[in-house]
Amino acid sequence: MYSLRRVTRPLPTFASALRSAVSGAVLAHDELVTLLQARSSDFAALHSAAAAATKRVFGDEVSMRGIVEFSNACEKRCTYCGVTAYDRKFLVSHEQILECCEYMHRAGYRNIVLQSGEIASEQRIDWVCELLDKIKRRYTFERDRGMCVVLSIGELSRRQYERLFDAGAQRYLLRIEASDRQLYEQIHPTDGNHSYERRLQCLRDLKDIGYVTGTGVMVGLPGQTYDNLANDVAFFRDNQFHMIGLGPYIIHKDTVMGKSIISRTTQKEREETAVEAGMTTLNMYNVLRLQCPYINIAATTALETLKRGYKKLALTGGSNVLMPIITPKQFRAGYQLYEGKKEVDMDREETHREVLKLLNDIGKKPVFTKWNHPPLFMHKQRQELNP
Ligand code: SAH
Repeated sequence: MYSLRRVTRPLPTFASALRSAVSGAVLAHDELVTLLQARSSDFAALHSAAAAATKRVFGDEVSMRGIVEFSNACEKRCTYCGVTAYDRKFLVSHEQILECCEYMHRAGYRNIVLQSGEIASEQRIDWVCELLDKIKRRYTFERDRGMCVVLSIGELSRRQYERLFDAGAQRYLLRIEASDRQLYEQIHPTDGNHSYERRLQCLRDLKDIGYVTGTGVMVGLPGQTYDNLANDVAFFRDNQFHMIGLGPYIIHKDTVMGKSIISRTTQKEREETAVEAGMTTLNMYNVLRLQCPYINIAATTALETLKRGYKKLALTGGSNVLMPIITPKQFRAGYQLYEGKKEVDMDREETHREVLKLLNDIGKKPVFTKWNHPPLFMHKQRQELNP
């Protein structure tokens, strides 16, 4: 089935679930389902409640991070992901990445996200460590003045995560993709190279080492249910992840999953599912904000690809982070995880200008020059320093 089917068993009312959420209670599973399925006036009420919670913690500030997608070479074969579809592999050079840093630093950014396909060789780790060293020498890793480097380069060994941490990386993003083991296994090949257990272990290692750790899922995967999504929210909340990046699944026609969906659905069905996934993604941000007020929640790029205006909705609701793409234009076409990514035809100035306009339109204030680690992380750190 390729649609997010609504739960048909009796559920708590929307009014009672929202009341619990606003009171700060830890929501029960079915209360989460009720909120995630909210539509029309309920959708708007959930949005307003999350907006108030976001404002209480972050005021009108939106934290800005620039993302450089530096390579599409990947050892994994995730069935949904577009990087598997490109025969032409690229690796942006250190010099080109430093040039992106220079642009970002001048524009005010103090956070750089480095993302790529997954290459777990020691040689690649050496390469990233050398890059970290160059960034450190040029800008320092001093909070708010220097650069905060965020990595999103997949599953590595604990030792490799430690090396990157010691070299100065501060944060790490690794989506669990689907916190339900069965669903996770459905969307990854059974080639011995993809393991749910391993992915969980990576997340535990990252947190344990001391990274500000982010995770997330895709919304609208074939076979996914609202029960799965409610469990995803509980998974993020109960494991106290510091950051969440999640977004709608979007078809890439040259992937295993994309081909399978296209062969058995109509265009209309796909469009309906996409709208459902977009609305549900927004509900996920809003529910998460109420359940975890002190985490950072990014408004994902995939959301705007789905429907214009969704990013604004995310940022006027539960989300407080934006990650404009700074990848040099010549590499953008080779890094389309999904189709219709509109930044592909833009250069970084255009991307930058567009996000400024977007924030201005909704009365939010972009914050570039602070690292803005999530309050949840800062709080834990203070507790550990002064027990
Ligand atoms: N190799 C890194 C980075 C992956 S790309 C890693 O494994 O963490 C970042 C995210 O893009 C993925 O974690 C996945 O959740 C998302 N993604 C991949 N394909 C997608 C698609 N077709 N639609 C929407 N999101 C997708």
